[in-house]
Amino acid sequence: MPYLHMKQRVKQLCDTLITYQVDHLVESWEGGIICPSCKRIHGRCGDAIFPMYYMAVETGEERYRHSAQKLVQFMKRNQLFDGSWLNDEPSTWKGTTVFQTLSLCHAYDYLNDNDEADEAAALLDMIEKAAKWITWAFCEGGIAQTNVNYFITTGAVLQWCSQILNNADYAREAKKLMYWSLEQINKDGFIIGEAKYTNRPHDNIDIGYNFDMSIGAMAEYYLLTGDTQVKEATLRVLRAHIQMIYPDGSMDNSFGSRGYKWTLYGSKTAHGCQMALMMLCDEDPAFAEAADRNAHYVASCMNKDGMVGYGPHHEAIFDKSCIHTTFNRADAFAVALVYGKPIPESSLIPSDHIFGLKQFPSLNTYHARTESLMATVTGFGANNAPTGGSISYLWHNTLGPLQIGSATTYERSEVFNMPEYPGTYRGTTTPRIEAVIQGTNYGSLYEYEAAIAADEDRTSLHVYGRLKPLQQPIQIDSRAAYSIHYRFYDQKVEKTYRFDVQFPMDRLSIIEPFVIQSDTSTARDNSGIVMETSGTTVTVKGEGSPFIFNTEQEGATIAAVFPAVMCTPVQWTMENVLPGNYEFTVSISVQ
Ligand SMILES: [Zn+2]
Repeated sequence: MPYLHMKQRVKQLCDTLITYQVDHLVESWEGGIICPSCKRIHGRCGDAIFPMYYMAVETGEERYRHSAQKLVQFMKRNQLFDGSWLNDEPSTWKGTTVFQTLSLCHAYDYLNDNDEADEAAALLDMIEKAAKWITWAFCEGGIAQTNVNYFITTGAVLQWCSQILNNADYAREAKKLMYWSLEQINKDGFIIGEAKYTNRPHDNIDIGYNFDMSIGAMAEYYLLTGDTQVKEATLRVLRAHIQMIYPDGSMDNSFGSRGYKWTLYGSKTAHGCQMALMMLCDEDPAFAEAADRNAHYVASCMNKDGMVGYGPHHEAIFDKSCIHTTFNRADAFAVALVYGKPIPESSLIPSDHIFGLKQFPSLNTYHARTESLMATVTGFGANNAPTGGSISYLWHNTLGPLQIGSATTYERSEVFNMPEYPGTYRGTTTPRIEAVIQGTNYGSLYEYEAAIAADEDRTSLHVYGRLKPLQQPIQIDSRAAYSIHYRFYDQKVEKTYRFDVQFPMDRLSIIEPFVIQSDTSTARDNSGIVMETSGTTVTVKGEGSPFIFNTEQEGATIAAVFPAVMCTPVQWTMENVLPGNYEFTVSISVQ
């Protein structure tokens, strides 16, 4: 019942948005939607116009129509003379105009289809002005370089504008952009070009933005034009990206180039994978199933205020949530409901299959899948993201996430879209190796060139890397190589760390944070810990060279902001490490 569920979610999200819509408070804010977390009106709140009109037509309830009309008036007042909208003042970024225009085009089309021509006509003026600015920005070099999802979305938006405004020039520009977009698809079917804060030119792939925004725009362009070349490319891209949906519907963007906004269901300020998957669900039954499971995962991350949080433990970390995600997901679900295809019979998704190991060469990443477990091991080179051959996502079929990577350092690189961490932030949740050599910090998370290889039996992986320094670009060789041998069993993972230390170290640590639920109890057990959650036990043991279990960390909790999860850090440390070879095995068993 994917559509029924999505419809319920649109209603719930729109009800939340109405609660936060300004009503006779401040004249200039009238009709805008206030963010209770950021204490501002995000420029993108106009994205809610389409889902609000969708609810108005579907239910006939006046409050939705009233809300949509007020939002339209707010957007009209705030459209700048050049046709654009500011994203978040005082930032001067206006590129997000393309998303607001997409919502207006959907609303215009939907209202006309439902005998609401007068209501639709009120949007035309805004669309006309915005189309001119978008063309200047993304076709004529006004904004020559930005993340690829803007250009791909512009392809879909200008095609809409061409049809709505009866202007063939926009269709020509749309086609040029869409065909350029096809060239941004790599050999594995991943779209490259989410390039902000990139570490190296080829490490600019973000599953979240691709899935939640770019592929939806590609699918929409195909539906509008019938272009079979775009259709075939979109199907290839979707089949690559759908492999990143874990069995519970969560999306693996643990290594992504914009993973700093990864929420486990997608990217915080993007729309949602339901657009792409449902517009093409008649091509592959797995698409509808993946969309449905992800929609349920989104729902599981909603807080008591009816807002979508930043991950499964949002409420344990934050009092409030940014409302941005709430209007974006409402928009994506409404688009899927209106433009999605009939649903074929239900089907498995790729991660349901017990495939052993799967390699994604262009991501330097493997997935492992056993009866009960799934894992991502990554050496992808995105800056400040899990890498170095870490397990960036370890999932169990009854417990959900067991280990989860997050930004190596939490930096509010998009200050309006990334909240302050409440309290003292205590580091990343990514499993890793850390060392101190002559007072300088080194670690596996600064190793962007780890080699990962599968055993012939296809049940274990070998990672090879060197401990690299935190401070860049000063490269001082640690003279310390490491390898990690991962063995995946039905209910168990073993990680054997091996070190070749050629220079004395002050300290060498293996750090393994584990996700804990609100009802998880933890207890010390010899050289590790035992965690019990709702009758399921996870036993973590460390054995080998004389690393000492760090009792200072015992029972401590840490959290990641994106995705919002609570973890307990488990750490084994060796002080004053002399040159030599060391080996230590961490085993994680679930019973
Ligand atoms: Zn906000």
